[in-house]
Amino acid sequence: METTTPVKITRTFNKWVNNPVLEDYALRYAPRSFRKFSESAVANSALGGIAFLANFAIGASVTIAYGFSSAFWGILAAGLVIFLTGIPISYYSAKYNVDMDLLTRGSGFGYLGSTLTSLVYATFTIIYFATEGAILAQALDLYFGIPLGVGYLIGAIVVIPIVTYGMTLLSRVQTWTQPLWIVLMIAPLIGILVKDPQSLAAWTNFGGNSPSGSAFNPLFFALSAGVVLSLITQIGEQVDYLRFMPERKLKNHKIWLWVVILAGPGWVILGAFNMLCGSLYASYIAPSVGLTAAVEPIQQFIHGFGTFIPGTFLVLTIATLFVVLSQMKIQVTNAYSGSLSWSNFFSRLLHFHPGRVAWLFLQVAIALAIMEAGMFNFLNAVLGFYSNVAVAWIGAIVSDLVVNKSILKISPNYIEFKRAHLYNFNPVGFGSMIIASIVSIIAYFGLLGPVLQAFSPFLSLVLAFILAPIFAIATKGKYYIARENPMYATNQETASTIHKPLEHGHNHVHSNNDGVETYTCSVCHYDYEQEDMTFCPFHDGMICSLCCSLEKNCHDMCKTEKVLNDLSAK
Ligand SMILES: [Zn+2]
Ligand SMILES: [Zn+2]
Repeated sequence: METTTPVKITRTFNKWVNNPVLEDYALRYAPRSFRKFSESAVANSALGGIAFLANFAIGASVTIAYGFSSAFWGILAAGLVIFLTGIPISYYSAKYNVDMDLLTRGSGFGYLGSTLTSLVYATFTIIYFATEGAILAQALDLYFGIPLGVGYLIGAIVVIPIVTYGMTLLSRVQTWTQPLWIVLMIAPLIGILVKDPQSLAAWTNFGGNSPSGSAFNPLFFALSAGVVLSLITQIGEQVDYLRFMPERKLKNHKIWLWVVILAGPGWVILGAFNMLCGSLYASYIAPSVGLTAAVEPIQQFIHGFGTFIPGTFLVLTIATLFVVLSQMKIQVTNAYSGSLSWSNFFSRLLHFHPGRVAWLFLQVAIALAIMEAGMFNFLNAVLGFYSNVAVAWIGAIVSDLVVNKSILKISPNYIEFKRAHLYNFNPVGFGSMIIASIVSIIAYFGLLGPVLQAFSPFLSLVLAFILAPIFAIATKGKYYIARENPMYATNQETASTIHKPLEHGHNHVHSNNDGVETYTCSVCHYDYEQEDMTFCPFHDGMICSLCCSLEKNCHDMCKTEKVLNDLSAK
């Protein structure tokens, strides 16, 4: 690498940060040179993450609380909403190779606006880490007699070494365990249906604790859907993998789209199926184990395997093996995605990035604390409340992608995620999400009457979806881009005016091994692809997106009017 002249400070990252194996391009565009996975490898990793047993617990939990019919239709309705909202999110993420946070920045939230959603997302991964951890601990308790409190600790700690080594090891683990997991998941369902065909009729007549029994009640339907809708944020975990999709070209046109749909929103097809299984299992075992234990997946699987495997010890062993296997897979994903969102949150608010691994410890510690606090017993309440905020976020992004970008064409037709080009806050997404969240939380607590109380997540979704275009029109799209990106191909004119200072700054364009052009960052001196780079007037040279995020001293001078005028005068 040739020396660059006006170097101010050379940034040296913590050695974790520049090890791509440990880092997986957290906070960055996922570069072509790293996206060497085939479509099917990405799909396999993305779907391997959805092995979660929380689905069985959630399906059981809403069925016991609200009765069969309301729970059944609630699960399907929420599943449909999750599927439809997941389509545009997955598509944009796979096309622009950005994770959920970078996508949020560029679809109406602004650079700092999406710190709020990083927090919402981190909360999601923690809630699910704790739920899954509790399910694991229930199994360890039943099999080994390990007290729940100790089981929580074991479940939390074993995840750390696996996640530390990131995507590469993760995809290998998931490939090995996938077939076994599918067999173990389907077997109890078949066992129950074959041995006990009338269990289906018993399921449809199951009322659990519900005051309206198994009959349909619109309010209970909405409450069930509300609990399930908390899973809408799962799309963030799916796109953490989908951002590694290869380029969409003529020859992989169709398969590319299929993979994006199946591995993206498609997760909820299996998810909703598992919830319905959990619902059936709960009705099947409730007479023998009671309503409280019927929610626990380990109980469900013991009885499921028990229908065709003789011997209590063998059944217990297989069921425990299954739970441990599933939980390791999903916990790894929860911890991984959580550590990414903490990285995002702190790098922007505090300009501080010690590396993803440091945040992993934070993630695991918080999750452990809420497991120990006994969150599993309040599952419906926690998830139902969380939905209001999660749905507002997703509703606002989807509206920006579908309405503002594609129909109204007010929002830029690409995903800009770099600090150097974004406003800190854009009212389009950020404002819509805040208003939708506040109104729906007010409704959730019953201040707007019993109907809106039950339907509060739906209210949130509709509000966010309608408000985003209204704000976009009202602000004339002014707060999307603070400074045109000279590196972006569509901004040819600006690019040619910026090229002079680029040459002046002695920045060199290199070609890496794949023939992809890369640029050297004048701060950290590493090479990155064009999508990750921009021109920085403060350093008078090219800068990578992460160095730009971490810069404390520039006070965003690149976006001040004076600099913008200077740049266009050159
Ligand atoms: Zn850099
Ligand atoms: Zn700047």
